[in-house]
Amino acid sequence: MSGASAVERPWREPGSSSGAAKSLWREPERGGDEPDWPAVTFHDVFKIFRSGPVETVALRGLELRVQSGELVAVLGPSGCGKSTMLALLAALDEPSAGEVRAGSRSLQRLDDAELAAYRAREVALVFQSDNLWPALSARENIAVGLRLAGHGDASDAAQDALATFGLADRGAHRAGALSGGEQQRVAIAAAFARKAPLVLADEPTGELDAVNEQKVLEALGRLREEHGSTVLVVTHSGKVARAADRVVEMRDGVVLT
Ligand code: ADP
Ligand code: MG
Repeated sequence: MSGASAVERPWREPGSSSGAAKSLWREPERGGDEPDWPAVTFHDVFKIFRSGPVETVALRGLELRVQSGELVAVLGPSGCGKSTMLALLAALDEPSAGEVRAGSRSLQRLDDAELAAYRAREVALVFQSDNLWPALSARENIAVGLRLAGHGDASDAAQDALATFGLADRGAHRAGALSGGEQQRVAIAAAFARKAPLVLADEPTGELDAVNEQKVLEALGRLREEHGSTVLVVTHSGKVARAADRVVEMRDGVVLT
């Protein structure tokens, strides 16, 4: 059974004027001109999916803060809201209530152009599979993302990133012809090339054997070490969890404390 169930609504429905559940959210204390925001903040975040009469509450008051440069493993049973959480942080979807922040910015307050720039420049996503355009070469896959993020010498930078992860000789190969482990590392190389400050990986080693899992894990660690990226990795792997700075456990739409 998934995390879906009907609940009383303690939050204010978007657009309602009742204001019954006024947010208690306060901006953190500021120590000067530069407030010291975490890289990631979820505050009292709800996400409800509706299809016809059926409501699924995927997130129910999620609280999470991740410091800049942290590598956090997110664990939890299927259906507890892990992918939904990442989708909100990637600005691929909006919360039903609550606040999602990247650094000091509340994603709900960004306009469309700002959101597009945020997605292109600041967030890199690595899924369990299907991260690449299979008909493009490994190098072109990385270069496309670089161009979207506004980089000029995309092809050289893409090749450099491949070399960083021991994939230099795969640059011209069709991505669809690479092994699963190589494809995952190309996806991570793409995040590396973009120097993405925020890397969100959703079960990136789910389809890999132990050797390739280790390589992907090292690649994720490198993002943090060389570019100071903040990395959230959803995983069922004990090995990945042990390599993280911190393990966060989710159940039924919240982070366990
Ligand atoms: P996890 O990644 O932890 O397995 P998800 O975040 O994918 O969990 O899903 C959380 C809950 O929200 C599940 O009950 C799932 O069925 C539901 N859900 C996720 N996405 C949608 C959607 N687009 N429409 C309806 N329900 C959804
Ligand atoms: Mg998921």
